[in-house]
Amino acid sequence: MFELWTEAVRSIEPLVKPAHRDLWLRPIECVAMDEGHIRLRAPNRYNKEWFEDNFLPSIMKDLEARAQRTFSVEFELGPEPEAAAAVEPAAAAAPRPSATVVPAGSSLPPPDLVNRYTFDKFVVGPTNSFAHTAARMVAEAPASRWNPLFIHGGVGLGKTHLLHAIGHEIHRQHPDWRVTFATGERFVTEFIGSLMNQKRSGNSAGNSMEDFRTRYRTAPDVLLVDDVQFLSNKDSSQDEFFHTFNALHYAHKQIVLASDKLPAELPGVEDRLRSRFTWGLIAEVETPDLGTRVAILKRKAEIEKVALSDEAALYIAAHVNTNVRELEGALSHLAARASFQNQPITMELVHAVLAKLVAVAPSGLTVEIIQRDVAAYFDVKLHDLKGPRRHRVVAHPRMVAMYLTRKLTNMSYPEIGSRFGGKDHSTVISAVRKIERLCAEDPAVRSVVATIESRLRQP
Ligand code: ADP
Ligand code: MG
Repeated sequence: MFELWTEAVRSIEPLVKPAHRDLWLRPIECVAMDEGHIRLRAPNRYNKEWFEDNFLPSIMKDLEARAQRTFSVEFELGPEPEAAAAVEPAAAAAPRPSATVVPAGSSLPPPDLVNRYTFDKFVVGPTNSFAHTAARMVAEAPASRWNPLFIHGGVGLGKTHLLHAIGHEIHRQHPDWRVTFATGERFVTEFIGSLMNQKRSGNSAGNSMEDFRTRYRTAPDVLLVDDVQFLSNKDSSQDEFFHTFNALHYAHKQIVLASDKLPAELPGVEDRLRSRFTWGLIAEVETPDLGTRVAILKRKAEIEKVALSDEAALYIAAHVNTNVRELEGALSHLAARASFQNQPITMELVHAVLAKLVAVAPSGLTVEIIQRDVAAYFDVKLHDLKGPRRHRVVAHPRMVAMYLTRKLTNMSYPEIGSRFGGKDHSTVISAVRKIERLCAEDPAVRSVVATIESRLRQP
């Protein structure tokens, strides 16, 4: 009977990205199956909800076709027995050394965590939902499955926010646990400082190496390290971090890291550390799409009690398309101007302020509109257009989109490159040249480009 379930799950596996397979499919277990009824176990409710929304319908369709009958589905929540055993050491080691800032048992939020960086203030959309759910799952069941969690992505996309949110949530559920937060830079500075102290005074009071190691290796139940790319090319600090990582990982303490690059792309990081970064789960935050940007603006406006019309939110979101930090910047700027002039945020004000903040193209076109139209015209997927695939089927539309972005917006070559999945500016320059040349030489290309361009120029 269980085989039917396994086969049905297998039938959808080829359609699921490997990372999603590990995160969403594998953890779901079929614990009972009898006449017309299935019982599944999910490690937690996020996993259950995601599974229900995204995979269950296709699996059930396959299963019911094989079994020639319908089934009702029921879930139970909780870790599988072996994963529960893995959590235990962390949960059981109740008395903790109390060397750092928050005394054990205190319910003050962990120091160094920004109050407003919580899960409930994080707006979820397609470009960050994977990282968000991974973060929630780690916060829900620290060190049981994904250790470390490695969050990466460009600036201003919510990595720090997620890291802090994990810290807040774990603190909420386990007020006596020690949640330690540091940036890569602080880790390095403190380490070098204690190293020098040790040399100078033969280990006196203050920042001794012993304090340092207590703080990072022994005390934490959870270690959150932001901007680990700072460890690049810092050999002695990396060595220390390697041992810190091992000590915590061995003791089943959760480690969460944020970085602007993937482990494989971090320059000057030893292989042994690089490989540890990939032991758990790697999750990316990407530039939010238009819908998410609108939702973020509306959420921020609500939190800050600023009246923002849909039209204004849409206009800001369409023009500030780089990252969330800039989006927030634009909103505060507007709110400040409005309150200074003692008037609401009118469209007039929005136009005036944004014209100063971002290079609004005369056409009002944005790279996203261009990408979307070009993708639709050539019938390719948007993510392929922005992705690394070099096949002609996507490479040609991509070059056309780059060419049109250069022509119709004020974006620079490096900016365009970054909006096409982080490509180098030289790639953009050669794409633009190539399309220019083709337009001159080949009437078919010329007419395609002209058609898309005239569609884009229509208001
Ligand atoms: P990063 O660490 O990736 O550079 P941050 O976490 O510092 O980015 O985010 C920049 C700002 O944008 C922060 O104020 C953060 O609260 C906000 N932010 C980022 N992503 C979101 C989101 N999905 N929902 C709400 N606010 C967000
Ligand atoms: Mg950050």
